[in-house]
Amino acid sequence: IGGPENLPILTDHLDSFDSPAKEELRRKPHLVILGSGWGSVGLLGNLDKNDYDVTVISPINYFLFTPMLPCAAVGTLELKSLMESIRHIVRRVNGHYLEASAEKILFSEKLIKVKVPGTEQRFYVPYDKLVIAVGSTSNTHGVKGLQYSNQLKTAEDAVEIRRKIVTNLEKACLPTTTDEERKKLLSFVICGAGPTGVEVAAEIFDLLNEDLTRSFPKILRQEISIHIIQSRSHILNTYDKAISEYAMKRFEHDQIDLLTNSRVREILPDQVIFDQKTASGEIETKSVPFGLCLWSTGVAQNPLAQQVVKDLAGSQKNKRAIETDAQLRVIGAPLGDVYAIGDCATVRTELAEHCSDYVRKYIIGSQSHKFIRSHHIITDDDIKHVDLTYNELKQLCTQISQMNPLAAEALSLVEELVPKYDPEGRRKLNFDQVKLLMKEVDSKVTSLPATAQRANQQGKYMGKKLSKLRKSSTTLSINDIVDGDIDNAIARPFKYRHLGSLAYIGNSAVFDFAPGYSFVGDIVAVYLWRSIYFAQSVSFRTRVLLFMDWLNRGIFGRDILT
Ligand code: FAD
Ligand code: MG
Ligand code: MG
Ligand code: MG
Ligand code: MG
Repeated sequence: IGGPENLPILTDHLDSFDSPAKEELRRKPHLVILGSGWGSVGLLGNLDKNDYDVTVISPINYFLFTPMLPCAAVGTLELKSLMESIRHIVRRVNGHYLEASAEKILFSEKLIKVKVPGTEQRFYVPYDKLVIAVGSTSNTHGVKGLQYSNQLKTAEDAVEIRRKIVTNLEKACLPTTTDEERKKLLSFVICGAGPTGVEVAAEIFDLLNEDLTRSFPKILRQEISIHIIQSRSHILNTYDKAISEYAMKRFEHDQIDLLTNSRVREILPDQVIFDQKTASGEIETKSVPFGLCLWSTGVAQNPLAQQVVKDLAGSQKNKRAIETDAQLRVIGAPLGDVYAIGDCATVRTELAEHCSDYVRKYIIGSQSHKFIRSHHIITDDDIKHVDLTYNELKQLCTQISQMNPLAAEALSLVEELVPKYDPEGRRKLNFDQVKLLMKEVDSKVTSLPATAQRANQQGKYMGKKLSKLRKSSTTLSINDIVDGDIDNAIARPFKYRHLGSLAYIGNSAVFDFAPGYSFVGDIVAVYLWRSIYFAQSVSFRTRVLLFMDWLNRGIFGRDILT
């Protein structure tokens, strides 16, 4: 069958008739998942079998355990321990996999336009439910010469870095290499001091100190240098302050060259040009030569996510991510068809926009607004004339928090904010004042971090909810559903739980637990770090492989040479 632009529409997969179970699934709703990363895998692991005919579309046919990618880049871990075939993961739900990239979504036709990588071939995949989990790309900050640097996002990136380190070390040992050239080959420059940059720097430092002196000439050790270029005054600046300071001290001690308040201007084939702000506020242009330059200065929007935001421009207001409601539904798409999770998505709280609904719900349940008894229906006019005391506002905020867990922290600030919106000191706010207050609360909601932890939690949430939705036809009565919102009737909104972030710095891990409490340490931290990741790994196979790698590292040192 032909779709728009005469492109074919996929009807059956090549494996749709492979087993009776798969044939049976053809009649079930089609669930399409875009991406094979943390969000998608969290979803696939929590979806009940046989609820949907599942198709995963991603240009990369493996799941990558990104938190340990820096280790793989320097040979502490084998790459294959960090990869899991997406086909293995999809098999659990009898699903299908297509190695391709989504280009555009036709929301009213419920079609995804898909491109085969490396070709100009395109086709359409129909969906009943769609989950977008396409992640993010690296931020270029418009810097020229990035082609001379390395990135660390995929397994191929890790292989490339590992290969370059070995090649440079070998070149440094040749008699034809001059002293100056040797220094350059052994200069590692890392642009960006977020967790990835910091972990790579620490891994390279450990590698050079612990293992290389065994097989390479000792003289190399004196010629090696590691530089971190960071635009802010601190490294790891999204973490707790104690952690950031600990990391800086540690790096100073390890003679890692921290270039703070510095902005990269351009990358040349063998040197980085950057502007550094001095203590007196002047800007000096400097350069540092490199044998390997890693670019890891944060994330930018994935092209498909950009396209979605553009196509739904009337409703989508954020330039950096696809906005969803608290149920993770893409705002502006038909309600309940399309969801977005992980790095490519952000949750919009919209408290001001839905203020009258919230106030309505509040006064229906409240005792003090007696005028309701005489009115059958609360009109918009009633709401406009409502006055809420400070105490009632507090109750209203508690109610709103339950519906918007992500805004709970910001809502708890309302007590401090309220006087600003009550200039006459009536100790009451009228509806317009409440609405303005909510607008400020909206702006105070902190967005979710772009982490594996968040993507995975959202994936799990979606997997469970999608299975519940399938069963809802038998468990829900029509009265349970308000305004056609089935999601709200069957599931609570998504709630993020911060379990701590981890960054590895030179034989000790820094562990950012929860706001106000952090744990910094040496050996204990390393084991904590390892065991947490160990417990998180996806399958028994990768768990065994990781364990073997650690044993190997402990006994034989790293294995960068093979
Ligand atoms: P991803 O996991 O990036 O998955 C996106 C998927 O979508 C990929 O499979 C991609 O191929 C696919 N895709 C892209 N475009 C399309 C398209 N058009 N159509 C279909 N598919 C598409 N987080 C932590 O919490 N802790 C850490 O220690 C940590 N360390 C990290 C270290 C490194 C080196 C890196 C790179 C990241 C690290 N992160 C860490 C961040 C974490 O990996 C991301 O936040 C997480 O991967 C986001 O999950 P996601 O599902 O949104 O996207
Ligand atoms: Mg994903
Ligand atoms: Mg991933
Ligand atoms: Mg994503
Ligand atoms: Mg990612």
